[in-house]
Amino acid sequence: MLIITLQRAKCIGCNYCQEVAPEQYRMSKKDGKAVLLHARERSGFYTVKLHDMTVLEANQKAEEACPSKIIKVKVQ
Ligand code: SF4
Repeated sequence: MLIITLQRAKCIGCNYCQEVAPEQYRMSKKDGKAVLLHARERSGFYTVKLHDMTVLEANQKAEEACPSKIIKVKVQ
């Protein structure tokens, strides 16, 4: 299983995550920050659990590219 977490409040809206993993991220037209698709929010952290491991590489690229270091990708 793949677990992705986004600490959304610290997003600076650079768009890198959407560029490298468009199936996982969209930029919000409302506040300009990244939206982690299908995620659930808890205490400011947005988390999504995926069984599709084909998206692992794109999400790891997003984790590396994020200048705010607020994307965490874990494999369980
Ligand atoms: S790469 Fe990080 S800082 Fe940039 S839009 Fe995505 S979550 Fe926000």
